[in-house]
Amino acid sequence: MAAGRPEPDLNGEPTPGLAEALTWLRHARRILVFTGAGISTESGIPDFRGPNGVWKTTDPQRYTIDSYISDRSVRVERWRARLEGRFSSAQPNAAHLAVTRLQRAGLAPVIVTQNIDGLHQKAGTVNVIELHGTSSEAMCLDCRRRMPIEVALDRVREGDEDPHCELCGGLLKTATISFGQALVAADMDRATEEARRCDVCLTVGSTLSVWPAAAVPAEAVRHGGRLVIVNEGVTDLDGMASLILSGRAGTVMTELVAALLGTEDSR
Ligand code: NAD
Ligand code: ZN
Repeated sequence: MAAGRPEPDLNGEPTPGLAEALTWLRHARRILVFTGAGISTESGIPDFRGPNGVWKTTDPQRYTIDSYISDRSVRVERWRARLEGRFSSAQPNAAHLAVTRLQRAGLAPVIVTQNIDGLHQKAGTVNVIELHGTSSEAMCLDCRRRMPIEVALDRVREGDEDPHCELCGGLLKTATISFGQALVAADMDRATEEARRCDVCLTVGSTLSVWPAAAVPAEAVRHGGRLVIVNEGVTDLDGMASLILSGRAGTVMTELVAALLGTEDSR
């Protein structure tokens, strides 16, 4: 049955729905954590569709693969943004650390993320399927050669505003999946397989509106898993959710994992 969206917690009371979520999580043998840009906003990286999201100031059309390939000004802007960007200095927040705790307790062996920021790995989480690639590498769109992002950024720093592949002359791009670009089939296959295996799919900080990524939690539900959504704001899959925990990812995830595993101090 679809869950109603509870009112956000304004009084420091436990997040509404937490007790019910705990009942399912305690009985789960395998939890699939599925994360989006909202898990990283508390680390200072803006999301796309949240109240302070990138779409408030930037035309989404400039984030498509077609505009990257056809419009030099888009590429120049993206490389400049990367140089000035916050990815490399950003640190994991309480929500990323809570996910790591869940994994170390044996409950969430694999994490699926739409994020490209590497913060799950920085928080010590392993087996992270990065459906939309990674910002830590660059790749040539023609010969598919990959390199550490710093190699490409050094070229930009040296004045090459739109670096091209030194081997084949193709366009270089951060090794992330832009809108209109195909996902890596093997990653999507592994994520789908994990969705079928889990008892609970716990999504954190995603509008669940970007496809085909959102097919992962939908597949979990199709295979009898429960969908528990942690998000500030509505998602496209609210109607499929068994439960919605409305609130900040850092707060809700810390609360949830502490209730499940005990506080760090008490272990
Ligand atoms: P989204 O921008 O569509 O949705 C983020 C959701 O998280 C929104 O509903 C927002 O209200 C909510 N949110 C924001 N801060 C929150 C917080 N502290 N606690 C709880 N909820 C919070 O994000 P999406 O669904 O991941 O889709 C955007 C796409 O853009 C992704 O596919 C991703 O590849 C990419 N992206 C990645 C990053 C990153 O790597 N950090 C940042 C921006 C965009
Ligand atoms: Zn090349």
